[in-house]
Amino acid sequence: MPFIDLKTQYRALQPEIQRRINQVLEHGQYIMGPEVKELEERLAAYTGAKYCITVSSGTEALLISMMALGIGPGDEVITTPFTFAATAEMIAIIGATPVFVDIEADTCLIDPGKIEAAITPKTRAIMPVSLYGQVCDMDAINAIAAKHGLTVIEDAAQSFGATYTGKQGKGKSCNLSTIGCTSFFPSKPLGCYGDGGAIFTSDENLAQAMREIRVHGQSARYRHTRIGVGGRMDTLQCAIVLAKLDRFDWEIEQRLALGASYRQHLTQAGIPIELLGVRPDRDCIWAQYTIMVDQRETVRATLEAAGIPTAIHYPLPLNRQPAYENISRSMDTPNSEQAAKRVMSLPMSPDLQETDIALIVNTLKGALQ
Ligand SMILES: *Cc1c(COP(=O)(O)O)cnc(C)c1O
Repeated sequence: MPFIDLKTQYRALQPEIQRRINQVLEHGQYIMGPEVKELEERLAAYTGAKYCITVSSGTEALLISMMALGIGPGDEVITTPFTFAATAEMIAIIGATPVFVDIEADTCLIDPGKIEAAITPKTRAIMPVSLYGQVCDMDAINAIAAKHGLTVIEDAAQSFGATYTGKQGKGKSCNLSTIGCTSFFPSKPLGCYGDGGAIFTSDENLAQAMREIRVHGQSARYRHTRIGVGGRMDTLQCAIVLAKLDRFDWEIEQRLALGASYRQHLTQAGIPIELLGVRPDRDCIWAQYTIMVDQRETVRATLEAAGIPTAIHYPLPLNRQPAYENISRSMDTPNSEQAAKRVMSLPMSPDLQETDIALIVNTLKGALQ
């Protein structure tokens, strides 16, 4: 059993993926070809954001967003230590200080009630992370940001396709704050066959700045009006994402249904594990199916021996990683510490079978008895 099954997806989409790839090979516009614009239009429409700017990765999306906002040395950006390194890494690489605020114990998402205590005159932005496919309490976070004149950048690398119902009504991840950043890394909910990512915003000036930064700060060919990067997404990768969109709505439905099935099986098993909290105003599209368990290593070994792969997202909070110790500021983060010791992700992908879930939960039950 694979941890994430990308092969079945490929087989299901093979004719369309190959047609799309061949089309790029025929027209030959490998950089900024027509598929780039087509994908940007499709994704903007999907999220409801006015603009989508595709970029070379989710990491680059975070970097370009902060460059467009003019964040740099002397500034602080508030985020969570319980995330993939790229989130805090990009804050650090532009010379700003990552400020770590703890997560809620059950959802593993940044705790909005703890954000205000971390704000200083240097704070410029809040970067909530939509971990495991569930968005944060965006109404609360946007309200804090508005009160203090900060920008909210959603790190939506794991949540493209997730829904949140807030004050504005029903909305899609990536369009719940001023900026949303996602990743098309193969294992993410919407993946390509390499690296890719996208930034979403409805602010025209920011969108223009991001487009320029993506191509070395050019406002016109060889006219460099700002410092930028080489951050374009390949035409071929855009073509692959376009093909994958044909099946994406079905895949989101599958993720929701499989998450519900996992929950049902795990609850019925009556074993000493804790399920991830999911708030009623949003869904979780389960980029990872993550549970919390004690004696994690023993449990993992038993699953491994039965041919069931697992993963840990993430074993050490970023405020405890050597690279961040001296360049970040951290509030008390006891929930992140606890989560890092107990989280464990089980196999998850839209093509996972009900029978797989039954087997996984049965094996887990055996491991915990
Ligand atoms: C994957 C991921 C990123 C980085 O995306 P890449 O496309 O791999 O650069 C950033 N933040 C989070 C939370 C992620 O899961």
